[in-house]
Amino acid sequence: MPLHLILLAVGSVVMASLLLYLFRTIRFKKSCPTCGNPYPDRIARPKLMKLVPSKAYHCAACGKKYYQVGLIAKRTSLSI
Ligand SMILES: [Zn+2]
Repeated sequence: MPLHLILLAVGSVVMASLLLYLFRTIRFKKSCPTCGNPYPDRIARPKLMKLVPSKAYHCAACGKKYYQVGLIAKRTSLSI
């Protein structure tokens, strides 16, 4: 088997598992992706994740850590 085909196969497996990891770890809702717990605990984010609008959660029911990204309603001081 030629080397470039092996590299391509390894690369696509790595990319697929990375996408799967991101898909299961990042979500747009607050509830747990694994068990659906609607009241997860807030945890500290790594510094890299502070660059994007996100919140880190830890599910007390199943132990899953995940991120909620984007579309986070922010309270503004401008109330009319
Ligand atoms: Zn959970």
